[in-house]
Amino acid sequence: MRFELDTIGVIHSPYQEKFGIPRQPALAPSAPVTLQLLPPYNQPDCVRGLEAFSHVWLSFVFHETATRGWQPLVRPPRLGGNAKVGVFASRATHRPNALGLSLVELKAIDTTDGVTLQLAGADLLDGTPVLDIKPYIPFVEAKPDARGGFVDGPPPQLAVQWQERARADLAAWPDTPSWLPALIDEVLAQDPRPAYQDDPARVYGIRLAHCDVRFSIAANVVTVLEIVTPAP
Ligand code: SAM
Repeated sequence: MRFELDTIGVIHSPYQEKFGIPRQPALAPSAPVTLQLLPPYNQPDCVRGLEAFSHVWLSFVFHETATRGWQPLVRPPRLGGNAKVGVFASRATHRPNALGLSLVELKAIDTTDGVTLQLAGADLLDGTPVLDIKPYIPFVEAKPDARGGFVDGPPPQLAVQWQERARADLAAWPDTPSWLPALIDEVLAQDPRPAYQDDPARVYGIRLAHCDVRFSIAANVVTVLEIVTPAP
């Protein structure tokens, strides 16, 4: 069987590229993410009652990598990038139907102009097409005693330090969002490097909220070197 699916809404997020996006939701709770519903789904009736739920499941398409195919075995970053598991034992983006599933916090629903959901902590690229929204039902879905396979608990966090130059870059940008410094800390603490990379001399860059955040990592400490903000 083949199916045709409709995009019901589009994600707007501070993540302008894949690199640096946390590998699961809730790891960077400062990320303000919105889901703007599209016609004909952007009518308040479609979300009536949803405001009573604190969290929602989003089904979406890994649209940026959807055409890159898939393999039966993948190398999860949590296993160091070498050990392989089956694609269906992983949350890898390269999978047969390029479908993603994220549990995110629902902060508010705005129905003044169409329907926009205010979300927190989503692990989604800006522009991600969403196929469905479902409320999270704790008594059915919360399983605190469940086994987590190779993903046993949250990943270790790196310490993050800022060079004065980076703080000054943000201070000089009149449009700095209030949440951006915390988001930079949260994103970098996740260690965005590919699993096999450990080069203290290397300078990395992440596109975040239209800024280029430049940093290096040595001895499990991230140093924020500079932040190139958008030209006025
Ligand atoms: N929570 C979801 C799941 O389990 O299906 C996504 C997990 S996946 C490992 C998370 C990664 O997907 C992010 O770190 C980011 O690199 C990537 N990603 C997020 N949005 C994407 C998109 N629209 N297209 C391609 N990759 C995306």
